[in-house]
This record gives sequence, structure tokens and C-alpha cells, in this order.
Amino acid sequence: MFTKILLTVVVVALIWFGFKYASRVAELREKREARERSRAVPGAGPSFRDEVKAAGVKDLAKCPVCNTFRATDAGSCGRRDCPY
Ligand SMILES: [Zn+2]
Repeated sequence: MFTKILLTVVVVALIWFGFKYASRVAELREKREARERSRAVPGAGPSFRDEVKAAGVKDLAKCPVCNTFRATDAGSCGRRDCPY
């Protein structure tokens, strides 16, 4: 008699924790899929933009006299024979 009650309690507990585990797994999977979906949307996260490059980065040119790289609009390096 006692073993019957114990077995019933064990079966109910197994079902209870099984459902809890299954719902937790489904919740985690849903969260991960939502994160991947938001990442796939363009512009949602940080991304490289061309206008940033145009505003903040300059091409450098090598001075053949002093062998330094300078921005082309930075002017002469100070030597008399500098072509810039
Ligand atoms: Zn120079």
C-alpha cells in the first residue's frame, strides 16, 4: 500500500519536473531565436558606415624627401625640398 502511494508521488513529481524542464528549454530556445532575429535586422546593432570613414579618415601620402606619411592637405613637413 505504502509503495503504491510512493510510486504515485514519484510519477507525479517526474511529470511535474519534466514539464518544468521542457518549458525552460523552450523559453531559452525562444530567447536565443529572438536574439538572432534582432541581430539579423539591418541597422539594429552596431555596424560599419561609410560616412564615418569619409568624415574621420584621411589617405596619407609618403613624402619622398623625408620618408614620412602625412595627410596630403597637411602642407610641407618643413624641409625646403619637400614637394608638399
Ligand atoms: Zn616632406
